Amino acid sequence: MMTKGLCIVLTDRCNAACEMCCFSCSPENNHVMDEALMFQAIDQAAEVEGISYIGFSGGEPFLYYDLLKNGLAHARLRGFATSVATNGFWGSWPDEILQQRLSALQIDKIFLSTDYYHQQYVPGSSVERAISAARTLGISINVGIGETRSHTSGAHFQQMGDSKYLLAFYTYPYIRAGRAAVFPEAEFFQPSEIPVERCASNGLISVMYDGKVFPCCKQQVFSTALTLGNLYNSSLKDILSSSDNAALMRCLSNPRCLRKLLEEKGLTRPFQSACDSCSSIFGDGNSLESLIPLIHAADSQIAADQLLGR
Ligand code: SF4
Ligand code: SF4
Repeated sequence: MMTKGLCIVLTDRCNAACEMCCFSCSPENNHVMDEALMFQAIDQAAEVEGISYIGFSGGEPFLYYDLLKNGLAHARLRGFATSVATNGFWGSWPDEILQQRLSALQIDKIFLSTDYYHQQYVPGSSVERAISAARTLGISINVGIGETRSHTSGAHFQQMGDSKYLLAFYTYPYIRAGRAAVFPEAEFFQPSEIPVERCASNGLISVMYDGKVFPCCKQQVFSTALTLGNLYNSSLKDILSSSDNAALMRCLSNPRCLRKLLEEKGLTRPFQSACDSCSSIFGDGNSLESLIPLIHAADSQIAADQLLGR
């Protein structure tokens, strides 16, 4: 799959500490990306064919407002479309500051997460003001609502009143990763009839505050062995073009390959999504290096099967 976008994970610090956070963010965490590394990531993304989009996330990227502002400006300068993923806590800023600070960022798109778990830390009133300020400035806004069995999106939709008709929403199931790993099994939605779906990266890769490059932007990936390389050691272009990483990316985007890896590792429990199975395959403490022979074998087998029409 062609790489279309780069997500820059500025920090693992967050004003919230949501009990289902699959990246285990909290106000106590304090990792933050060095500004020079952020600029380097953006410059190098411009050298990778296909990347047209830079997203900023965390943790909560608005906690490092000046860093975020400089990153957005640099991405724009390089001709990228931009987005920021946030919980919208900044909706509680006073009116004048809210408008002035938000407009100075010149964001193209905001992905705002709100649901039962987020609302324990960011009240609906802040979310509403954040949405309203973004809409006033013409910023495109997508609202993501995560669900468990106990706390589904239905109740949350009701709380949003009439404004919900003005917005684009998406819902997603929380999975067993990070802090949600201790949730009872019954809280998670069970798999569909398809045992393993396609990797949901959509051609987006990410770079963490410490320079590590990952094959998607899902928070749960950061606790797996799926590190493709580190920008402190190699360029983004070199990392993406290595034969091991190319085989890995092909494997991730092929449901048959993920299924083969599950079989090889003897993982038989039901999986609710590709990300759930991916977290199990690569999140058990083994290094990616130790799994590469398995990935190449699965990749070759599938290529051979395809040639033989199997
Ligand atoms: S889920 Fe989002 S808002 Fe909640 S702690 Fe994690 S990063 Fe912060
Ligand atoms: S399947 Fe793995 S690599 Fe793909 S989006 Fe999910 S966590 Fe990321």
